[in-house]
Amino acid sequence: MPEKLNELFYRDPYCREFDAEVIQCVKGKKYWEIVLEDTAFYPEGGGQPADHGTLNDTEVVDVHRRNGVIIHYCIGALEVGSTVHGVIDWNRRFDHMQQHSGEHIVSGIIHQRYGYENVGFHMGEVIQIDFDGELNNEDLHWIEREANTRIWRNIPIEITYPTEEELKNMWYRSKKELEGTIRIVTVDDSDVCACCGTHVRRTGEIGIIHLISVEKHKDGSRIEMLAGQRAWQWLRTTADQNTEISHLFSAKPLETAEAVKKYMNQSAETSRKLSRLRKEYIAMKADLLEKTDTQILVENDLDADAARMLANNLLENNKADTVAVLSETTETTCRYLVMSKSLDLKSIGSEIRRRLTVKGGGSAVMQQGMIENKTEEVKVVLEELLRR
Ligand SMILES: [Zn+2]
Repeated sequence: MPEKLNELFYRDPYCREFDAEVIQCVKGKKYWEIVLEDTAFYPEGGGQPADHGTLNDTEVVDVHRRNGVIIHYCIGALEVGSTVHGVIDWNRRFDHMQQHSGEHIVSGIIHQRYGYENVGFHMGEVIQIDFDGELNNEDLHWIEREANTRIWRNIPIEITYPTEEELKNMWYRSKKELEGTIRIVTVDDSDVCACCGTHVRRTGEIGIIHLISVEKHKDGSRIEMLAGQRAWQWLRTTADQNTEISHLFSAKPLETAEAVKKYMNQSAETSRKLSRLRKEYIAMKADLLEKTDTQILVENDLDADAARMLANNLLENNKADTVAVLSETTETTCRYLVMSKSLDLKSIGSEIRRRLTVKGGGSAVMQQGMIENKTEEVKVVLEELLRR
């Protein structure tokens, strides 16, 4: 095995604890920067985040390779020359191994079937992979099924370091031109790829792959996916959501979408009916009112649009010169609308705002908003200001 790819995390990706000598410890900008003679801590690279864990009692919060040297960013200092005990945050690392190995299978399968290249990879809360060709939902389902089939076959994932001569005669996926020693990851019949990450030994350890979505991205597609424990957690959460929806709609768990569609259609029909009835109500209401200079109405069931329709109707039909519509929204708040053909509502609006707790305003012909006072109090003030 070549010297520079010979770190402990490469020799034994399953190493969770180890002892190593501290060969450098300097105070950096934020953390102590510690170099060990050998390490099981994976430094961020190849789309895989850095390992976390501890060195003796101090926390390792980040790990990077700088000019070929692996730096552990630590909360505390460690004595140069001493031997320290390292513990890897194994949940975090194994999760990365599951996601990363899963990504190989998905990218490998897509290359085999569609000939597309993986042109971008990001490991955040979900794994994003960009391809240079179009994929749709149907493709997504096929790829997911195929990826899981290969997990269930529990095929081996092997690391090799071919010579330059061997590399010339073999095909492998690679995101960029590589120099020096090339580390090749082979997922049996599913992928061959130059990669510096850590991987599980066999695909069975990935457990499950779930492809969340596919969408157009630049000239190709972006797939969001999860593998292993994270995929299970995602599916568990969405299943819980579905169970809740199934209870709310009294629908069987596999028929929730139909139930929601039916409900939405009914709701749209109810809205259409309500809108027709509202128009009729406003016309009848306006008809019944006696002609007067100022109308101050309390209409709790009218929303802002309907209140304006009512006021317009009264003004247009010369049933009033000034109309105020109040709608109580809670015991201590109400919505207000004032429209007038004869009064200057700018100055009246200022007076309303001075005497009541108002969120709103308007023009010389219309004032509207919310008032944080009891409807009765508002009515008394408007009576005084509008009936002059
Ligand atoms: Zn890899």
